Amino acid sequence: MTGTATSPGWIAVAGLGPGADALVTPQVTEALARADDVIGYIPYVARVAPRPGLTLHPSDNRVELDRARHALALAARGRGVVVVSSGDPGVFAMASALFEAVEAAPAFAGLDIRILPGITAMLAAAARLGAPLGHDFAAINLSDNLKPLVTVETRVRAAAQAGFALALYNPRSASRPHQFARILSILHEVCGPGRLIAFARAVTTPDESLRVTTLADARPDMADMRTVVILGNADTRRVGRWIYAPRSANTPAP
Ligand code: SAH
Repeated sequence: MTGTATSPGWIAVAGLGPGADALVTPQVTEALARADDVIGYIPYVARVAPRPGLTLHPSDNRVELDRARHALALAARGRGVVVVSSGDPGVFAMASALFEAVEAAPAFAGLDIRILPGITAMLAAAARLGAPLGHDFAAINLSDNLKPLVTVETRVRAAAQAGFALALYNPRSASRPHQFARILSILHEVCGPGRLIAFARAVTTPDESLRVTTLADARPDMADMRTVVILGNADTRRVGRWIYAPRSANTPAP
């Protein structure tokens, strides 16, 4: 589709997956091939190959709503726009930001908007580790950019007490150096020292590293912002080099 004033514009909010090219879906590849504009956080836009006729709009972190408004304005002018996220665009990413922008400017609600799913970090990490998310689990974003820290801690504690395995996104950043230590101590208190915990970093990229340990030996510096942390449930165990959650729950929640 070309970006003329007479052609109808469209927006695809697309997930680029965890890193490996082979994990970008054909649907996302096809949308990128048709796009006039690509909008997103700098490292994600850097994953899109430049080509004639395609305008790349990399932007800094924490400007999700500006990006969403920009995408809507371009599509309203007849452009084909792909907004890129890593992983899945609906998991702690741009799809919600886009709908917030539409809600604030309902004239855009009639635009052709599609959300194109991707493989989210926790699923890519789980696949590399074995099957730690094979029973009930919860995903929690540890960042306090968009919710108070007390909410993060309350949710982590409640989910651990309920017996869920956990996938923890955005575990540690320079702006909140002490918070992840506090999360580990809550988990230790609720789940005990023997509980398995995995640190999966830069999964499916050349920088990938995987580390499985217990809460007794887990240290805050095992995680950074490229890590997704997976906490096992009370039944999660090792088999060979793998960890997995059995399909049935045998140990009652603490
Ligand atoms: N929409 C993304 C998540 C964005 S939040 C998704 O669905 O995966 C960014 C966080 O995702 C990072 O701090 C990290 O916790 C996690 N993450 C993203 N890519 C990852 C990867 N390749 N390996 C490990 N964690 C990753």
